[in-house]
Amino acid sequence: MSEKVCQSCGMLMEEENMLGKNSDGSKNEDYCCYCFPNGDFSKDETMEEMIQTCIPFMIEDGTCKDSEAARAMLMSILPNLKRWKK
Ligand SMILES: [Zn+2]
Repeated sequence: MSEKVCQSCGMLMEEENMLGKNSDGSKNEDYCCYCFPNGDFSKDETMEEMIQTCIPFMIEDGTCKDSEAARAMLMSILPNLKRWKK
């Protein structure tokens, strides 16, 4: 099985229970349970807002050492994801 990455926030979905949910209760394989909990996006937000939301988590879990590094990483990932791609 190939690694699935949330097409909204870029988080790696390592387990089935991290997948989002469609309104009929089935799993949504494109988005994680935080971005797409129940048939729709949890928040109607811009990519910039998503970046702001993600930065503290990436520092907290040690992925990035500061907000600048986290932003740089997000800016390299998010624009290529389905939700943000124009
Ligand atoms: Zn997500």
